[in-house]
Amino acid sequence: MDHAATTPVRKEVLDEMMPYFSEYYGNPSSIYYLSNFSKIAIDKARERVAKTINAEKNEIYFTGGGTEADNWAIKGIASKLRDKGNHIITSKIEHHAILHTCEYLEKNGFEVTYLNVDEYGMISLDELERSIKDNTILISIMFANNEIGTIEPIKEIGSIARKHNVIFHTDAVQAVGSLPIDVKDMNIDLLSMSAHKLYGPKGVGALYVRKGIKIDSLIHGGAQEKNKRAGTENVPGIVGLGKAIELAYSELEENTAKLVELRDYMIKNIQNRIPEVRLNGHPTKRLPGNVNICFRYIEGESLLLSLDMYKIEASSGSACTSGSLDPSHVLLAIGLPHEIAHGSLRLSLGIKNTKEEVDFVIDKLVTIVDRLRQMSPLYEKNQEGK
Ligand SMILES: *Cc1c(COP(=O)(O)O)cnc(C)c1O
Repeated sequence: MDHAATTPVRKEVLDEMMPYFSEYYGNPSSIYYLSNFSKIAIDKARERVAKTINAEKNEIYFTGGGTEADNWAIKGIASKLRDKGNHIITSKIEHHAILHTCEYLEKNGFEVTYLNVDEYGMISLDELERSIKDNTILISIMFANNEIGTIEPIKEIGSIARKHNVIFHTDAVQAVGSLPIDVKDMNIDLLSMSAHKLYGPKGVGALYVRKGIKIDSLIHGGAQEKNKRAGTENVPGIVGLGKAIELAYSELEENTAKLVELRDYMIKNIQNRIPEVRLNGHPTKRLPGNVNICFRYIEGESLLLSLDMYKIEASSGSACTSGSLDPSHVLLAIGLPHEIAHGSLRLSLGIKNTKEEVDFVIDKLVTIVDRLRQMSPLYEKNQEGK
């Protein structure tokens, strides 16, 4: 129930990766026969990635994951366009790979506008357009949110950016593999993706850079990736990303239909069987597998520990913020008060989840929430008032 944090590598993906560990292990930069296998494999993966998002092959650059792609997009454009302007627009609900990168740039002379979102987590196109200034060089808005699943109006954001001649980057790590993406139609200049969120391996991702967009390198060294991203290529990982993305899009329709049905069934049944709950995120413009619910009067952490006893893996806030006691910046941005934001639970469904599993989770949730509320002083007080 935590596929937004990561996914297992699919067997078909692993099978394609295996030969590139020990058999075809040549360094793609070498010039002997063995290396051809690696070179050809990377080329094929690049083509598969490009094709699924309607990009050209030479617009895809492989990275060491989603975080690196995000860092590269933002720091690479900031550095390249420093003389043109120092203003960046993003949103309050971005992943920390974006937010912490922007905070770093703020310490280095850049100015960042963090757009508000409404109660569903949706940015306002009006506010976006009003925030653009003469010195704005980059707009970075995520395709879909990793905590509450809200899908942003990407095509409209892209056309506003185009109209004002500002570069548009989108962190599409949650969207790639789950939603149809067409970088040309959606006016996207830069797009980040990550293999381990779409049943591929960890530590590999890609940045799409539209032809004509000039960007500085983040990683300096050898001449790999057309001199833009140095370091010997993660050949098995890249092969895995290529296979995983191709599989995801060949099955997109059936998987989406299945996940949306499971998701809505889960939301409806939690709402029907447990009182005082609130669905976070948009009711329909939402990632197919995302369920995010607040349970009043209880702590997300206690909920997670109790679920773990039944071997149910879920998340409160995001994996990156769990471990800290601060409530999620996303839930605060959609206007939830601290005490309610603390009682949130994210269940993110994957393609292998079954209705039986979902029923099991709902049954356990009913029991756990009831037990935790009985122990909650806040709940007791509230019940006395009734
Ligand atoms: C997971 C995630 C990232 C980070 O990707 P990694 O490959 O884990 O570094 C960035 N943005 C979003 C929205 C994510 O969900």
